[in-house]
This record gives sequence, C-alpha cells and structure tokens, in this order.
Amino acid sequence: MSHVPDGLPQRIQHHIGGQLVDGISGRTFDVLDPVSNRPYATSAAGQAEDVDRAVAAARTAFTDGPWPTMAPRARARVLNRIADAVEAQDARLAELETFDTGLPITQALGQAQRAAENFRFFADLVVAQSDDAYQVPGRQLNYVHRRPVGVAGLITPWNTPFMLESWKLAPALAAGCTVVLKPAEFTPLSASLWAQIFSDAGLPEGVFNLVNGIGEEAGDALVKHPDVPLISFTGESTTGQTIFGNCAAGLKGMSMELGGKSPAIVFADADLDAALDSTLFGVFSLNGERCTAGSRIIVERPIYDEFCSRFAERARAIVVGDPHDPATEVGPLVHPDHFAKVMSYVELGRSEGRLLAGGGRPDGLETGNYVAPTVFADVAPDARIFQEEIFGPVVALTPFDTDAEALALANGVKYGLAAYVWTTNLQRAHTFAQSVDAGMVWLNSHNVRDLRTPFGGVKASGLGQEGGYRSLDFYTHQQAIHVSLGPVHTARFGAVAKDRT
Ligand code: NAD
Repeated sequence: MSHVPDGLPQRIQHHIGGQLVDGISGRTFDVLDPVSNRPYATSAAGQAEDVDRAVAAARTAFTDGPWPTMAPRARARVLNRIADAVEAQDARLAELETFDTGLPITQALGQAQRAAENFRFFADLVVAQSDDAYQVPGRQLNYVHRRPVGVAGLITPWNTPFMLESWKLAPALAAGCTVVLKPAEFTPLSASLWAQIFSDAGLPEGVFNLVNGIGEEAGDALVKHPDVPLISFTGESTTGQTIFGNCAAGLKGMSMELGGKSPAIVFADADLDAALDSTLFGVFSLNGERCTAGSRIIVERPIYDEFCSRFAERARAIVVGDPHDPATEVGPLVHPDHFAKVMSYVELGRSEGRLLAGGGRPDGLETGNYVAPTVFADVAPDARIFQEEIFGPVVALTPFDTDAEALALANGVKYGLAAYVWTTNLQRAHTFAQSVDAGMVWLNSHNVRDLRTPFGGVKASGLGQEGGYRSLDFYTHQQAIHVSLGPVHTARFGAVAKDRT
C-alpha cells in the first residue's frame, strides 16, 4: 500500500472567472493513482459549453480587466509572489504530483522547484524587456510596441504536469495574456492547486481559467474556439498534427512541443564513466516519461561491448518501487493504458534486439504500473523500438563504426528534439552537434537547461521555439509604429490633373 496524501480532493472542478465550478453537463471522469490503479477522485469532464464559459471569462478579463495593460513591474510582482508560494509548498506539491503521476518523490520535488523558477525567470524577463527602435535622422522614428495577443489556450501533457503547466502559464501571464488551461486528463490533481496560488498572489479574477477534461472534448473545443487566437500545445506528435489542422480554420498562432526519440552518441574517446551515469539518468529519470529522453544510445564499436555490459549492469540495479520512497529511482508509469503501451514495446523488443536488462514487470511488484528498466542491444535502425517513441524506461543500444554512420543513425528517425554527444574531441563535438537534426544538443551532458536558451524540436518534434524572450514573442504581437519627424515626400496623386485645369 502506497502513501496516500492527506486532504485529497474527491472532486476536481473547473476554475472559471474566479470560481470553482462543476461542468454544466455534470459529466465526470475517474482519476486513478498509478500504484493502486484505483479511482481516488472524479474530475469534471469539460464540454464545449464549459470552454465557452472559460473563454468568455478570460476574454472579459482581457478586454476590461487591468492585467494586459499593467506595468511589467506590477505583473512581475504578482509572478514573484506566485514563485514564492510554489517554493513554500514544494513538498506538498511534490507529494501530490508523485501520488498522481508515479514520479519518484525526489524528482517531483525538483520539478516543483523548477516550476517556481519559471515564474521568477519570466518576472525578470518582462521587466528587463527592451524592444527595437530605429531612427532615420530628421525623418522618422520607428519603434516596436508589444501587445499581448489575447486569450491563450494552453494544453499540456501528463508527464511532469505542474512544471509543464508553469512553462506555459509563466510567459503567457508575464506577457499580459489571459489564459484557459486544459491539463492532461490522466493527471489533473496538481493543476487544481494553481487557482488558490494565483488568487493569493493577487492575479485578477478571470485572468486564469482551468477546464479539465478529455482531449477530444475540452481540448478540441478550446482549439476551435473563435475567441482564442493562439494555442500552446505540448504532447504527442499525432495530437499536434490534429491540432495543427484544427487551428488552420482560425489561422491561429501555434507553438508545438511534441514527441522525441533522442539519440545519445557515445564516441570511443568519451569519458566513459560520465557517459554511463548521464545516459542512464537521461533515459530512466522521470520513469522514462520524458520528451527529451535519450532513448537511443549509439555507441562506437571499440567500446560497444563494454558500454553495453556496464550499462545493463547498472540498469538491473536501479531501484524501482514506491514513488513516495526517497530511495526510489524509477516509479510506476502514469496509467494502465500507458503501461500496456510500454509493455507492448517491451514484448516487441524481444524480437528486435538482444535483451540485456529488464523485460517486463519487476519481481516483487505484482500490482501498479511498474516496468523494470529495460535495455535492448544490437537494435537495427529500422526496428520499431529504434524508430518510435515509447515514453517509458526502455532503451535501444546500437553500434557504429564511423562518424558518418553515427550521424545517419542519429538523424534516421522522424523526430528531432534533443541529442547528446559524448566525445573529448572538440572539433568532432561541434561538427557533429551542428549536423544532427535536433532542436537542442548537449555536449558531454544530459539535459541541463538554462531558461534563456531556445527550447523546441525540429521535424516531428515541434513547431516554433519557446524559451526566454522567444516565449514572450509568442504571446505578444510586435506592432511597428512609424512616426514621421518632418514633411514626408508624397507623390500627389490626382493633384497634377487639377493644376492643369
Ligand atoms: P497527448 O498528445 O495524448 O495529450 C496532450 C494533451 O493534449 C492532453 O491535455 C490531452 O487531453 C490533449 N489532447 C488530446 N487530443 C486532443 C485534441 N484532439 N485536441 C486538443 N487537445 C487534445 O500527449 P500525452 O500522452 O499527454 O503526453 C506525452 C507526449 O508529450 C509525448 O509524446 C511526449 O514526448 C510529449 N512531450 C513533449 C514535450 C516537449 O517539450 N517537446 C514535453 C513533454 C511531453
């Protein structure tokens, strides 16, 4: 029996216009915890009419409320208070997140702290923001005036839900937008904490609205709503394609952070101990439910056998268990449906690779969505476990002989989110990094990211870049204002004929 947090809500509601409300239709869905797989709460299942209400509240807050036109410093004060509140309750947040998602508690705590940091970062950025101004001496002054776009629709996935919500909420609010958030239906618990945090911090009513629900219902209605001019989406590439199509009718702004099958390329000259630590963490942290997971490890032939055996030995020793136990390194997957999907890839892998570790449910964990860290070696590049995103603790190892072959293997999938390159050769590191199809590359490191840097993928991994001022660009229009400083040369249409008469 796993830990059950005190004070769990039995009913998860929407938050619209400053009020907690049930759905108009009264429809609900069950929310399970991943250790017992029993429902612990019911959540309101938002329908189009609930989305209408939420968008109307956000629209009113945008057109009539103070938020969009407040001085950046005033908005930043609110964002900093939000960050303080998130930090002050990081342990509680982590407890709820771990209960709802199965993320190991130590990792959930890190994500809660990162969520606070997102608010602090965008508070700083919006105050420091400067915009372009151009002078044509004596003739013109041109400057950029930024305006928040309007009601932003934010749609988020279930992996590290609170942190990923903060990633969209913080820049959208900093920019002066009002928002409707539709969190993932597997994990609505932590999102239900935002409303109180925001209201305590002084965010005006109606600026933040939350509609829970199923993607094809609540998410779809949000995407198609005519008063929502932009959608920020994080989730699967196939869902992104559907949303892309649905945004077309309204010519909406879109930011898409999608799936990944990121390679870690380990050259023979790499620091092998560091590469092992990092690649193990890179694929098995967050239960492998991580968009930037290094789920394909491509290893240069001279060190391949040693790498495989040391990697597998460590994978077999990973502590899998109760996510609330601070000693746990890998917890249960989020939901039985996702568990079934990951297990189907584990079964497939037996015919596509050489099983070195894991391969199913760990001994002694007969219930709950537990999958042992699973390692397949000698995986061919056309194997489905090499090509498709599994989003669980499963990794494919493949050898290579030349730099060109390593690059072809790295780039030979439809995704292009992250890449991790391990070598001590400076020239090779940069040459490889600049050739690999990935929005983000780490040299001799796993994913450690400064918030100012661009975040986003290429190919099927995304559209557009967020991160730092790029996020503010997404949530604002940059209006060009042209001021004439003297008489402007103007061709006098129609004046010549009149002069002649
Ligand atoms: P998902 O695409 O199933 O769902 C994501 C969100 O979209 C949920 O809130 C869902 O309800 C909603 N949704 C589903 N169908 C919709 C529709 N037709 N219209 C509108 N909304 C809809 O993704 P998931 O399974 O929750 O998350 C895992 C995926 O997210 C993985 O592919 C992972 O790589 C990706 N991800 C990417 C990043 C990144 O930054 N690139 C970060 C985290 C996760």
